[in-house]
Amino acid sequence: MSAIYNFCAGPAMLPQAVMQKAQQELINWNGLGVSVMEISHRSKEFMALTQHAEKTLRTLMDIPQNYHVLFMHGGGRGQFTNVVNNFLGDNGKALYLVNGQWSTAAVKEATKLVGENNIDQVNIIENIDGLNQVVLPDFSAHSDDYRYLHFCANETVDGIEIFDEIECPWPVVVDLSSTIMSRKIDVSKYGLIYAGAQKNIGPSGLSIVIVRDDMLQLPSLPQSSIMDYRIAQANDSMFNTPPTFAWYLAAEVFDWLTSVGGVAAMEALNQQKAQMLYDCIDNNPFYTNGVCKQNRSRMNVTFQLSDSSLDSEFLAQAELAGLVALKGHRVVGGMRASIYNAMPLVGVQALVDFMEAFAKQHS
Ligand SMILES: *Cc1c(COP(=O)(O)O)cnc(C)c1O
Repeated sequence: MSAIYNFCAGPAMLPQAVMQKAQQELINWNGLGVSVMEISHRSKEFMALTQHAEKTLRTLMDIPQNYHVLFMHGGGRGQFTNVVNNFLGDNGKALYLVNGQWSTAAVKEATKLVGENNIDQVNIIENIDGLNQVVLPDFSAHSDDYRYLHFCANETVDGIEIFDEIECPWPVVVDLSSTIMSRKIDVSKYGLIYAGAQKNIGPSGLSIVIVRDDMLQLPSLPQSSIMDYRIAQANDSMFNTPPTFAWYLAAEVFDWLTSVGGVAAMEALNQQKAQMLYDCIDNNPFYTNGVCKQNRSRMNVTFQLSDSSLDSEFLAQAELAGLVALKGHRVVGGMRASIYNAMPLVGVQALVDFMEAFAKQHS
């Protein structure tokens, strides 16, 4: 079989080396004669795995000591709920920046949880202009007292990324589901970072939460124990049975990322991959991307064919060439190539070659 390059937005492709290792270890992990899925999460072998995973992640992201790392259930959306329930007790207010589909979904969840009568607990700023450019508000004169400001650093559906740090007087909560470890970020600027695993980390269902210690003092609402950050922290993310296989695979991805040079090396590669693809789009009138240059996502490259009646033929031919899952999100249409950490440069090169040939054939 010739190479298949999978551009799925999520669950996304995982590094081939990791998948091969997992396959080898599937029925005999660590010489135990059983798989990692079939042992106690409290066994010393599994505990060693979790400690290693945390340590590796701390090094990769340079996470300061006053932050806890939690491995939770519920993916990205699970944290839409958890941040509200953990931080907005006793009528606290939050501010949400909205610049795409996922930040909109986070607002929807927050307003549902505070309830119709308390809608003023969730304030919103739409910070995208008509040019698909993110304009960050100036918060210096803001007198409101917010428990947190929430934003989504990479809008996976729309292909819009915010590269700037947000400067504001409140703790910043960021959804990094589709951009975590694709570039360096300064963890110390955030109150809480979360990410569903299935884009840059591992299997879906798992959620990584990095939370600053003082955030756990905020008053919380009565809530399910498995979603409570304090309980997760006090129980080493094992209040109930954690998603052990996902945790194992995440640890393998962290090791792989370390072995290829860590986040800085990945950032350079990701820049190169995205540049190749955007250059192809910009240099060819057959393709367009409407996102302003400084907010073009490095992870999710959206593009349209100038003649959308060719969309299905484009997708069919791409698939024949081994380039799969390029169809855009159903809400925005067009195409989307998700090029997370695991996508090799040759995969992007293959896509660019295909796009150039397809455009030539149809112009
Ligand atoms: C994928 C994604 C989510 C949702 O993740 P689930 O695990 O499906 O809940 C949330 N935010 C962003 C930015 C995403 O890309």
